[in-house]
Amino acid sequence: MSAPSGPGAYRRDRDREDRDDRRESTVKSRLRSRARKKARKQSKKSGFLRRKVCRFCADSSLEIDYKDAKALRLFTSEIGKMIPRRISGNCAKHQRQLAVAIKRARHIAIMPFAGHGI
Ligand SMILES: [Zn+2]
Repeated sequence: MSAPSGPGAYRRDRDREDRDDRRESTVKSRLRSRARKKARKQSKKSGFLRRKVCRFCADSSLEIDYKDAKALRLFTSEIGKMIPRRISGNCAKHQRQLAVAIKRARHIAIMPFAGHGI
């Protein structure tokens, strides 16, 4: 974002060009952009975004065990990196426990630090 050559910067430049080209429609374009923004917000609110539920909270019989590499592998990418909370849907508490478990499993060499395969 801080880089001047990002996509945001490009968009800003294009907006400025538009304004220069047709100065008489500034109000109209501003209204249109506001309407677009509103529509985007509404679609986000009423869209079919499902709330992710932490599977450890949902099922109390599930336990985080550093010796259970098969279960821990569900929360790592194929490269072996941990999957972030925003994607896996875990709660903070369980994600923390999971991170510790994965690190322990890596230390005793039943999980990969990085790389393909096992
Ligand atoms: Zn949880």
